[in-house]
Order: sequence, then structure tokens, then C-alpha cells
Amino acid sequence: MEDIGDYLAEHGVRPTAVRMLVWRAVKDRYKAFSLSDLEQQMPEMDRSSIFRTLRLFVQHSLLHEIDDGTGRQKYCLCRCEGDVHLNHIHFTCGVCGKTYCLTDYVIPQVDLPEGFVPEDVEYIVKGVCPACRK
Ligand SMILES: [Zn+2]
Ligand SMILES: [Zn+2]
Ligand SMILES: [Zn+2]
Repeated sequence: MEDIGDYLAEHGVRPTAVRMLVWRAVKDRYKAFSLSDLEQQMPEMDRSSIFRTLRLFVQHSLLHEIDDGTGRQKYCLCRCEGDVHLNHIHFTCGVCGKTYCLTDYVIPQVDLPEGFVPEDVEYIVKGVCPACRK
């Protein structure tokens, strides 16, 4: 837990017990997750404190937010390198509803018309994942 505390502090998040527990529950995930996923994993925790913690992690660039069209807000781990915090491509499976992080794929840049200022980009590829194709 010590390392987790340091990691959070480095990202400007004061490491409280709740935050460290939530971070421990998410830090090794390679797929996007929703609030309900975490609730199931941590039934002893209060839903609203998990939610607030996730929001805080997003604000401090520890997580990315994804709207994958399943109607549930999802989150995934930021694995950005360097100072650039840009979302990566996601793949949502229409059969199992899982959203995979394709962290090696960078979202192509779009040249916007003059006057439009981008703040975030989402790039979701929809289809069938390898596990569901079998
Ligand atoms: Zn990032
Ligand atoms: Zn699938
Ligand atoms: Zn992701």
C-alpha cells in the first residue's frame, strides 16, 4: 500500500484509505470498467465514495473516461507516456459488452475547422472480440 500512496501523491491526489483501496482495485486492469464492476469487487464500499474517487482520478489524469455506447460510463487506466494525456482507441464487443483498451493505437488527429477547440477525443471501434468469436 505504501507504493500506492506515493503514486497517488505524485499525481496530486492525497492518498486516503478509500482512494488507495480503489486504486489497488483498478491499477492492473487491462479492460475498461464501470462503477458497477468496482462495486461488485468491493461490496464493503459505498457506491458514492467509489464514484467520487473515480472522478478525482480522472481529474488528475490517472484514468480516462470512455462513453462506449453501452449506456454506462466506463473508465480505464491512463497509460500515457510523457506529458501528453490523450485517450487511446477502444474496442467494444457487441456480444459480451466488454471494452478493450488498445493502448498501442493512437487516435488519429483530426484537423478541425477554425475556431473549434478540442478537449477530448473518443475513438471506439465496435465489433466482436476474439473471446466471442470462438
Ligand atoms: Zn492518459
Ligand atoms: Zn466479446
Ligand atoms: Zn482504455
